[in-house]
Amino acid sequence: GLGILISLLSACSLSAFSAISQMSYMVSLVEQASVDTLTNCYSRNSGEEILDVQFRIASRQKTQLSVIFLDIDDFKHINDRYGHEAGDKVLKSAAHYIQKSLRDSDISIRWGGEEFVMLLPHSDADGATRAVRRLRAAGLGKRPDGTALTASIGIAELSTSGVTHWADLVELADAQMYLAKTNGKNDYSVYVPATLTTKSA
Ligand code: GH3
Ligand code: MG
Ligand code: MG
Repeated sequence: GLGILISLLSACSLSAFSAISQMSYMVSLVEQASVDTLTNCYSRNSGEEILDVQFRIASRQKTQLSVIFLDIDDFKHINDRYGHEAGDKVLKSAAHYIQKSLRDSDISIRWGGEEFVMLLPHSDADGATRAVRRLRAAGLGKRPDGTALTASIGIAELSTSGVTHWADLVELADAQMYLAKTNGKNDYSVYVPATLTTKSA
């Protein structure tokens, strides 16, 4: 009787163990797929899914949501002058500072090579601007020559944007980033709808 009980117990624990290890293996696969290994930010694909879900929730519940678009300044020069590996190191450290400047509930996404998108649920443009100022004060790390790494940054909030799809909100933040870029880089710009400026008239 005891022998049967022992073998039954060991069979049960073995199958439980294999189920648990299968599950943790699957979880690690999903995590690998959704996180960019160099920067530890969400990958573009999973980032877009999170944007979609958060945008729908904020739109339906009429809560605040802001997007920050960040593009590192003169990044190509680092690769050209010091090599791709040095460029990778700079990207990794920039991502570290980006994540440090955000709340735990905020989302950072590696959008492209040296572009990052941050998603701030329950933050309006003022809140996002405070986060950007915090990030600019802390810095993004150093370039290989020891000078400060800088970025051009755009901010857009859902409530004043008038958009109905997440991609359009990212587009608005991207356009503001481009404005900061063309205004001489190392700057940020906030989207303000044209109607707001004539509101008092
Ligand atoms: P700007 O100030 O106008 O933004 O110029 P920039 O040089 O930062 O931008 P540009 O778009 O000209 O160059 C971006 C470079 O980023 C080109 C590409 O080779 C490099 N890049 C993209 N992904 C990676 C990566 O994963 N690692 C490294 N080291 N470089 C990358
Ligand atoms: Mg770029
Ligand atoms: Mg750039």
